[in-house]
Parts: sequence; structure tokens; C-alpha cells
Amino acid sequence: MVHPHTEVRLIDEKVGHGLFATRLIPRGTITWTRCEFDRTFSQEEVASLAPDYRRIVEIFSYIDTEGKSVLCWDGARNINHSCEANTLSIIHSVDIAIRDIQPNEQITCEYGNCNLIEELECLCLAPGCRGKIGRLDALNHGTTWDELVRLSLPEVTQVAQPLLPFVRERTLLDEILKGQSAIRSHVSYYLPP
Ligand SMILES: [Zn+2]
Repeated sequence: MVHPHTEVRLIDEKVGHGLFATRLIPRGTITWTRCEFDRTFSQEEVASLAPDYRRIVEIFSYIDTEGKSVLCWDGARNINHSCEANTLSIIHSVDIAIRDIQPNEQITCEYGNCNLIEELECLCLAPGCRGKIGRLDALNHGTTWDELVRLSLPEVTQVAQPLLPFVRERTLLDEILKGQSAIRSHVSYYLPP
């Protein structure tokens, strides 16, 4: 589930849609959490889908640490990648803003965490764009992303969190925020193909 102060907008024909902030979303805000409405498919289930349905899952889902494809029910499936994403993950099911996201700014995440089926050419235009995005990126860049999340952790308890009731791994999140547990490293999201 995405933060309520967001909406899906058409960017252009090449990129398609994206998710945009409708108000300021401060650093530390949970921008997305996996929730009960998101649909989960085993890879066997994905393979057994009719081609038109399978294509939707392949385009819009990510693969979790158990190897399941997760198809988000709301605007979360329209969140685009940026090599300088403004959201990253505390745990694989919870993303936070790692800097203030301004009204009308696009919300972006890191597809290097999504266990992509195939490498994608990146269209993000960020100064630090890697050019291509693939599942090995989590291994190569995960510790850098972890540090950005750690720097933003103190803000998480200081800002409004409308998505908190929907966080499934609430106990783990609370332990992380109290300093009793570490964030789940982005490196740990990698699954071998
Ligand atoms: Zn890029």
C-alpha cells in the first residue's frame, strides 16, 4: 500500500505511468508497505497463467525473498526505478523516504532489490545512472543503500506514519526502530536466478 499523499500520473509513452507525491512527504516517512491486499504468486503459479495474465505479473510485480512474485494492488505497481531513488527499504516489505520528497516529485525506488527476471535498460536520467538494472545490483550496491536507510532511521519515529497500521512485520520494524534489531540489508534481498 502506498502513502495516501500520492497519485499515479502518466509521464510519457516510453516511461508510462509513475507515482507522484501530492504533498511534501518528509524523510523517514513510510512510503510503501506490503499489505494484505497485495497478491502473491509462486513461480509455478506464474508459469501456469495464460500469457496475457502472465505478462501483467512479469511487468508489474517484484520477487520477494521467498521467491514469490508480489503484484501490488494499488499505485505501488507504478513506482518507477531511479538509480538515485528517493525511497529505499528498512525491510523488504517496508520502504521509507530517504530524503524529503517535494509535492509533484516522482516517488522512485530501487529495482535492484526486486530480483528482476531480466536486466532492464535504465531510463532514470539520474546523474549516477548505472545504465542497466539487474538483480546482482543488490549484491554490488546493497551496503550503500543500507547506509542511506540508516541515516534516515531517526526520522521514522518523528514523522506522521499513516501506513504503520498496514505493516505486516510490525514487531520486527518496532525492534529496528528501537535499535534492538538491525535493518534487513538490501544485500539479503538477492535471490539467485
Ligand atoms: Zn538509472
